[in-house]
Amino acid sequence: METKKESRNFIELIIDEDLSNGKNDGRVHTRFPPEPNGYMHIGHVKSVYVNFGTAQKYGGKTNLRFDDTNPIAEDVEYVDSIKKDIEWLGFKWDDDVLFASNYFDQLYDYAIALIKKGKAYVDDSSAEEIAAMKGTPTEPGTDSPYRNRSVAENLDLLERMKNGEFDEGSKVIRAKIDMSNANMHLRDPLMYRIRKVKHHQTGDAWNIYPMYDWAHGLSDSIEGITHSICTLEFEVHRPLYEWFLNELEVFCPQQIEMARLNLSYTIMSKRRLKKLVEEHHVNGWDDPRMPTVSGMRRRGYPAESLRNFAQRVGVARRNHVIDVSLLEFSVRETLNKTAPRVMGVLDPVKLVITNYPEGEVEHLTMINNPEDETQGSRQVPFSRELYIEREDFMEDAPKKFFRLAPGKNVRLKGAYIINCHDVVKDASGVVTEIHCTYYPDSKSGSDTSGVKAKGTLHFVSIPHAVDAEVRLYDRLFSDESPMGHKDRDYLEFLNPNSLTVITAKVEPHLKDVKPLDSFQFMRKGYFAVDDDSTPEHLVFNRTVTLRDGWKKK
Ligand code: ATP
Ligand code: MG
Repeated sequence: METKKESRNFIELIIDEDLSNGKNDGRVHTRFPPEPNGYMHIGHVKSVYVNFGTAQKYGGKTNLRFDDTNPIAEDVEYVDSIKKDIEWLGFKWDDDVLFASNYFDQLYDYAIALIKKGKAYVDDSSAEEIAAMKGTPTEPGTDSPYRNRSVAENLDLLERMKNGEFDEGSKVIRAKIDMSNANMHLRDPLMYRIRKVKHHQTGDAWNIYPMYDWAHGLSDSIEGITHSICTLEFEVHRPLYEWFLNELEVFCPQQIEMARLNLSYTIMSKRRLKKLVEEHHVNGWDDPRMPTVSGMRRRGYPAESLRNFAQRVGVARRNHVIDVSLLEFSVRETLNKTAPRVMGVLDPVKLVITNYPEGEVEHLTMINNPEDETQGSRQVPFSRELYIEREDFMEDAPKKFFRLAPGKNVRLKGAYIINCHDVVKDASGVVTEIHCTYYPDSKSGSDTSGVKAKGTLHFVSIPHAVDAEVRLYDRLFSDESPMGHKDRDYLEFLNPNSLTVITAKVEPHLKDVKPLDSFQFMRKGYFAVDDDSTPEHLVFNRTVTLRDGWKKK
């Protein structure tokens, strides 16, 4: 869905003004800067949409740059998954995939330049000592005893840190700014720490790694990013980025902060999502219950619906929580147009049409999607014995029950009107068979019977039915705000019934599906073929129900 109205969001207003002032020679160049320490989640979708989408609108470019400054938490598995997810979402980055680690040499040279200016130093204090000297928001910090080392000594120590002469934790590089600044981020922040670990891109080349705040603004600058869009919590970091850039006299991108996406019933932190995976609360990052791009893809959420959702959410300067039903609405909206209709019975009970000839089979022609006639039609077998949904029959039905009950008429979708005359039960009183008669001249499309039926039921012909494993998902968290409780862990709010596995009966047409194909099981919801599905063992994920049923619970 493209915006029809010409209204501009606040980011576009800033860009419009920059363009009219001739800033950056009219270039618009954004970047999406994930840290490869987890799989992308729905919050990242918003950031991807804003960064790539905004540049696209202005004919600009977007870099994909991995902010890979912390090798301990990072892995190529995450690099690969993030690339795959962005492509699947429908966006293309400019040129090659970039890494902050591409700039480690340049950042090191910048550190030397700052030291030479007397604006950075090597500190031998421990992490605890540095924290203790930091002060508080209302009290100034204190200068480190190493703050006034000579330039020559600092340069010598930096090089030896780089060469691996010192142990982890024994020294850091700090910017020399202002230990009493009201903005704590300017109280001589760390630029480098010693880490003797292998990096997924640079291998064993480095014994020191840059801090995110040192690397991030400079990476943007090196790439000539014009508009560096980030979330609100980085607003207080902006003076630090600008301090570095001004001291080094290099290009200064404009940082623009927007609110994070927060979704009800959802957590959005790679670290916490990783815990769900590692502690096996879910079956991997791409578990269809996860708010990850890979989970949502596997569940059957179309990429288009995620883009539409991100557009609907928009950009704002104030944090707020979006109702997860808006996401589900966007999913239904897309699938309604794209998903072929089929019949599947999730909780089958046998129905016998006692006056229909034994052994006879009719092949009914059904249109695949009334919203899209290009999807054509298919043949659906009809016979004497059918499965219908157990909940579609009631023995003692109230007046308003327009489905099947003794003495009542209903239409079988695309077929005949039937009337129920008998039920068979087992010893415990559970209905095992429903006996009906049909009106032979009531066939859909050529009905001359004059018989009325209020409801229409879906069905599957028993001799033609195919078994399918169906995974029904409910919300992963049963609380609207799993992170919003003091003294309670988000894991306490995991919904123990978030996954139910059943065996459904589906029409034979579904024998030839492949993973990620999506269908509407008429009256039951949207279902996507799971990665685990094979022709011998079909597996479907329920993507979303047809209506928002949650509110009624
Ligand atoms: P997390 O807390 O989940 O680890 P992060 O911000 O640390 O998220 P990054 O990999 O650094 O993850 O994120 C890449 C980009 O996505 C950043 O620009 C970040 O601001 C943005 N982003 C992350 N979460 C959200 C969100 N919920 N809404 C909007 N943008 C987000
Ligand atoms: Mg992070």
